[in-house]
Amino acid sequence: MTKHSLPFWKEYPERDNEWVRQYPTKHVAIREEDVFTQSPMGIYVHIPFCNRLCFSCPYIKHQTDSGITQRFLDALKLEISNYARRPYIKDHRITLGYIGGGTPTSFSSKQLAEMLDHLFGELNMSPDVELSIETTPVDINEKKARTLVEKGVRRISLGVQTFVKQELEDIGRPGDPQLIMDAIKLVQDAGFKNVNIDLMHGLNGQTMESWEYSLDKAIELGVTCVSFYTYMEFAQVSTKRRKLPPVPSKDVVDEMFLFAARKLTQNGFEGYYGDCFAKPGFQPRYGHLSWSEDIPIIPLGPTATGHLRKHWYFNEPNIDRYIDIVNSGRLPISMGQHISKEEAIRRAMVLGVKASRVDRKRFKELHGVDFATLFKREIEDLQEKGLVTMTEHGLEVTGPKGWYFLDNISKAFYSDEFKRFPQHLGADITPFLKNVAAR
Ligand code: SF4
Repeated sequence: MTKHSLPFWKEYPERDNEWVRQYPTKHVAIREEDVFTQSPMGIYVHIPFCNRLCFSCPYIKHQTDSGITQRFLDALKLEISNYARRPYIKDHRITLGYIGGGTPTSFSSKQLAEMLDHLFGELNMSPDVELSIETTPVDINEKKARTLVEKGVRRISLGVQTFVKQELEDIGRPGDPQLIMDAIKLVQDAGFKNVNIDLMHGLNGQTMESWEYSLDKAIELGVTCVSFYTYMEFAQVSTKRRKLPPVPSKDVVDEMFLFAARKLTQNGFEGYYGDCFAKPGFQPRYGHLSWSEDIPIIPLGPTATGHLRKHWYFNEPNIDRYIDIVNSGRLPISMGQHISKEEAIRRAMVLGVKASRVDRKRFKELHGVDFATLFKREIEDLQEKGLVTMTEHGLEVTGPKGWYFLDNISKAFYSDEFKRFPQHLGADITPFLKNVAAR
């Protein structure tokens, strides 16, 4: 007879005389603030309007139109109020926020003020919330910039793409570099201390010289952050039809990445998320904290993505349906995924790598496991490829090679289930939903 087949009372030498009534059993001093402190939370607000639609843009957006824009703003305010009423939200303080799109500043300054007043009035916004907003050089003016600063927005990001006139024209942007420079000066004068500009490499007809010119202009204009993106392949479909010069070869585009990383680093910028560079003290906390510290994010607006209560999800992308759902009193949550304990650990690694470093001690505090042990095989493989460095403190992506391959490194930590699944890009999921319903 094995031990486990014994009647349970015979497994013990004697009956335990301590009556179990609480757990855990080790105690330390604890205060009211430890129990009731509100934990940090972020918001992402998606404004799906643009004053002019760029043909190189993959996102769902609508031409600004006064009728629908105000209906949308009213729905957005309702959605904010709906979240604000929920007890779970009340346990948090909003310390991070990002207002993206579309072009959020396609709203009038009155509408921007209305939205920001509603956010600050309804949600528990921290007075020093790091709130960023996206704009373009043609959609910002002095009145809007001053309204944003006055209402608590601290960081602004301008979609510049290039300072070269011909390159601007070829991607359908107003072809006036002077207008861009004036817009940067305007936001600086309005009180924005933290100004990011987005640049693109791999544009039609772009050369190393013209790329260097755009980078030099950014440095000269005193912006605090520069993010650069590769011009998207699918946007080049119309290249032949529009008789544009060809895009640079892949080798040249790769070289442009490394060149920009070196140049910005040499000029006092520090790299983060691979292709974003900021002056010390100006690195935006939004991505870094929501990814590395696993801070929950409330998604607001159509296609907005967020993660709350062990779920990652995104909102209904169709603007009319979004407005109808919100007006019916429901949250416009559309699709997503429950995040299991195992996937939460993988997610922390996948997104932590995107912030370029993962702290071992902090990871253990947050997730209860040592990632270096758990992902030993993946990390050794990445080390052999010269993409990451591992110290006793944590994992560091090795720049500039690792920065260039940041997404490959990040995907090394996907679970088998999600390895080949592309991510949501704000696409209209209506056909997908119809297929699911038909099954
Ligand atoms: S302004 Fe930005 S969001 Fe709007 S269409 Fe152009 S690239 Fe897309």
